[in-house]
Amino acid sequence: MKKLENKVAVVTGASKGIGAAIALHLAAEGANVVVNYASSQADADKVVEKIKSNGGNAIAIQANVSKQEDIDNLFSEIKERFGRVDILVNNAGIYDWATLEEITEEHFHRQFNVNVLGLLLTTQKAVTLFGSDGGSIINISSVVSESPAPGSSVYSATKAAVDAITKTLAKELGSLKIRVNSILPGMVETEGTHSAGFIGSDFQIQLESKTPLGRIGQPNDIGKVAAFFASDDSGWITGDTILASGGLLG
Ligand code: NAP
Repeated sequence: MKKLENKVAVVTGASKGIGAAIALHLAAEGANVVVNYASSQADADKVVEKIKSNGGNAIAIQANVSKQEDIDNLFSEIKERFGRVDILVNNAGIYDWATLEEITEEHFHRQFNVNVLGLLLTTQKAVTLFGSDGGSIINISSVVSESPAPGSSVYSATKAAVDAITKTLAKELGSLKIRVNSILPGMVETEGTHSAGFIGSDFQIQLESKTPLGRIGQPNDIGKVAAFFASDDSGWITGDTILASGGLLG
């Protein structure tokens, strides 16, 4: 039997990059996967098709995780389709760097609304659908929560907040058998890092030179770690953060 057979997993921001890889890994372990997206329906549909062509089960559901109404609709649909949630991966996130003088209210609120408020509101709703066996919540943080780069004040602060929330909710939800952990990826090649101009930049070369394993990450590197946190293999781990960065900051 596969490790996540009959489980229901929700992955936010799963139309691309790290979220798409996590959705594929959880489905490969037997989970029924909800592929959430904000605007890229065609990409989300492709992830669902790939899961189905590998023999898995998935559906795509649109919801902007920074909007309460969208979150309510997302979980109503999940309740109707699957009846419960066993695994939640809070992956949806945006990164937009700015130096101190470039920071604006809009820059601050946009990132905090998705990366922090969205994660909290999504988790709040998801927890109401976890069963008596509990389950696993996996928050996608970043190495910047521990080692912020210049120009990343707001983004790094969102990820430090995510780690604080992970530790807090592990304590609040432990009695419900719900485990909460964070994965802290180093730079990963995704649609997002391509469009932000990180891929092929001097910053990438600099990071790789400081990384013991000598390369940046690929989405599958993170998908494997998420599958570990989703399954009972990590059943005695909660409130923890794991660096998935090829040894950068190790
Ligand atoms: P990406 O390629 O830009 O993809 C972002 C995904 O999040 C897309 O599926 C997007 O959906 C979705 N999304 C964005 N805003 C959303 C919202 N308000 N509601 C629902 N979904 C939303 O990103 P990525 O590089 O894979 O990063 C994924 C996560 O990993 C983020 O939390 C990021 O901070 C973290 N991370 C990334 C790296 C890296 O180097 N890539 C390193 C450390 C941590 P649409 O396409 O529909 O908009």
